[in-house]
Amino acid sequence: MRPVPAPRPGVSADIVDTTRGGGRVLGLTFDDGPNPADTPRLLDVLRRHGITAVFCLWGEHVDAHPDVVRRIVADGHTLGNHSMRHEDMSSWSAERIEADLREADAAIRRAVPGARIPYFRAPYGAWGRTPAVAAAMGMRPLGWRLALGDWDPPGTDELVRRLRDGITPGAVVLLHDGGGDRSQTVDAVERVVPVLAAEGWRFALPRRPDWP
Ligand SMILES: [Zn+2]
Repeated sequence: MRPVPAPRPGVSADIVDTTRGGGRVLGLTFDDGPNPADTPRLLDVLRRHGITAVFCLWGEHVDAHPDVVRRIVADGHTLGNHSMRHEDMSSWSAERIEADLREADAAIRRAVPGARIPYFRAPYGAWGRTPAVAAAMGMRPLGWRLALGDWDPPGTDELVRRLRDGITPGAVVLLHDGGGDRSQTVDAVERVVPVLAAEGWRFALPRRPDWP
């Protein structure tokens, strides 16, 4: 087995869970899409409020719905690789991880030629050797400070409550636009974002040491 590769210069293998900038800043991240049922409506909500987010894409879903990926990129959002088949990679060798991540990158770039993919997020947060492999491929491992638990939808009111109560300055927030019915997540974002904006919160990308 090859040793775990060194990170590409400027790309840390440390899992980032905070945004660029200080104060009332949040980094919204959406996993498991693209999802033709909920992602377009989410994009409408984000666009209406002038917010950009990170979309961590599931490779099989990219192949199924490349048009939705094109819209994500056209709207100015940032992409993350969320693996090809959303498997638990925690026990995988570096070689197997790299092959999977390359397959997912290729799927994304079939949808959007030349797409930039500056982040990687491990399915289930089961990191194993993935942070070093992703960093060697130029992707920063992307964690989170707050997870809403929206993979098991608890009702929009509860999601709103968890978001309002759980945010802290600089937090990366994990939400889902794919992998199931995510209409409650979109509804919650639509309700909370204007309130946060009125309170002075801004939205920014997760930190990368190679970006100012
Ligand atoms: Zn996921």
